[in-house]
Amino acid sequence: MKGNMNIAIDGPAGAGKSTVAKKVAKALSYLYIDTGAMYRALTYAALKKGIDLNNGRALLELLEAVSIKLEDGENDTKVYVNDEEVTASIRTDQVTKHVSLVASHREVREKMVEQQQRLASQGGAVLDGRDIGTFVLPNAELKVFLTASVEERAKRRYEENRSKGFSSDLEQLKVDIVKRDELDSNRAFAPLRKAEDAVEIDTTSLSIDEVSEAIITLAKERA
Ligand code: C5P
Repeated sequence: MKGNMNIAIDGPAGAGKSTVAKKVAKALSYLYIDTGAMYRALTYAALKKGIDLNNGRALLELLEAVSIKLEDGENDTKVYVNDEEVTASIRTDQVTKHVSLVASHREVREKMVEQQQRLASQGGAVLDGRDIGTFVLPNAELKVFLTASVEERAKRRYEENRSKGFSSDLEQLKVDIVKRDELDSNRAFAPLRKAEDAVEIDTTSLSIDEVSEAIITLAKERA
């Protein structure tokens, strides 16, 4: 599908946003922009440099000094900080545990949002995140808010980890997911929230294909 629309996909951790967003983008020949990967990349760089994650100013300086690049591949998005490929490193527990703190700083978000808006300025993009419909692209032609029960989200993460060859504790995954949602929902600036005009889809008992198809249908209706 050609056209210049932008699609915003938001929702809590582990609701399947990135898997679905990738599929939708591929089906429509749109650009996929994983905004969570951008916050993760900054978190990774900050941890590596030993920067105090409570210091928003220092994080902004780091963000201004590095280049974070997303490269849309056939099956995955490769992520780079300067020339270092960090695709796998930004998914570690250590980064996941700290990313919400990094993403809570207003100055960091303002800079990230600027970059995200630039990437989407031509239209034809699918962005997934927490504040895309409410803040990054308030005029997006289609906004979707994906949810799923905490049990289901933890189970999906557990299976995902298992398929990558490492085991995890299901109860601990649940605790971590709830904690991250709390931090993301309660931050002062651009928190995780469903936009008023977003279509909410509870994915608990739906397959990835069913969710993707539903969004593709909505996109075609609105094109
Ligand atoms: O989507 P993902 O789980 O990779 O996002 C990692 C973290 O990045 C989120 O928990 C949130 O703290 C932050 N984030 C954000 N705004 C976005 C995307 C991600 O604050 N648009």
